[in-house]
Amino acid sequence: MPEILEVETARALLDARALGREIVDVYAPDAWFLKRGLTPRAVRAALKGQSFTKARRRGKLILVDLTSGAALGLHLGMSGRVLVDDEAAGDPLLYASNKPDPAWHRFGVTFADGGTMFLRDPRRLGAVELDPDEDRLGPDAFDLTLAQLRTILARSRAPVKAVLMDQSRIAGLGNLLCDEILWRAGVDPARAADDLDDDEVKRVHRAVRDTLRILGKRGGSHTGDLTSARGPGLHCPKDGAPLLRRTVGGRTTFSCPVHQR
Ligand SMILES: [Zn+2]
Repeated sequence: MPEILEVETARALLDARALGREIVDVYAPDAWFLKRGLTPRAVRAALKGQSFTKARRRGKLILVDLTSGAALGLHLGMSGRVLVDDEAAGDPLLYASNKPDPAWHRFGVTFADGGTMFLRDPRRLGAVELDPDEDRLGPDAFDLTLAQLRTILARSRAPVKAVLMDQSRIAGLGNLLCDEILWRAGVDPARAADDLDDDEVKRVHRAVRDTLRILGKRGGSHTGDLTSARGPGLHCPKDGAPLLRRTVGGRTTFSCPVHQR
């Protein structure tokens, strides 16, 4: 599933390859894929004759600015990928369903030079919207400061993992990344967020940065040390303890009962 690292790769592809090309046609065959009142007719009117000026990102939301000043919002959902001129961003082996089936093209544009941009999404859980409300999202995980994290955690009694995954508080962290972050920080995912002491908050903050940097270099959110060890009967890569598998914040969660306290 795309997490912030995969979304960042898709954003970088758009920024490198899709800017400054005039849009002459819009492909929006799936009205259900358009969200927040957007219709195929409206998205066509908003994009035709425009070009993209910048590709930004807030958490897992991609924002592509248009010459008109509007912004196209792209959500990759559970299986979405961005293709520019038929080239996808990132590792083609990451998703099982990677064959280029045009039926999975949920949205796209054709540029005046004949090239294309498509959002391919086998599971159809992504979405396209116009001028998305960016403020419904918390600070981007890449920019999260220690002071912000301290405030966010102090305000909630929910499990720390659930708070880290809440996109309205911190934008971009998904299930795999949160498990890896808390494993690196040595914090039990089920602990109440407001129960963490300042040293633990600092460890979580450092782990957010380290995890994004290290896994980003390795090639994606699936490359974590804990992620590689997930599964029943498997062991903590740090101390060899059998991993604990629970549901925390509604999601399957792996953690180490020995060094995560
Ligand atoms: Zn351990």
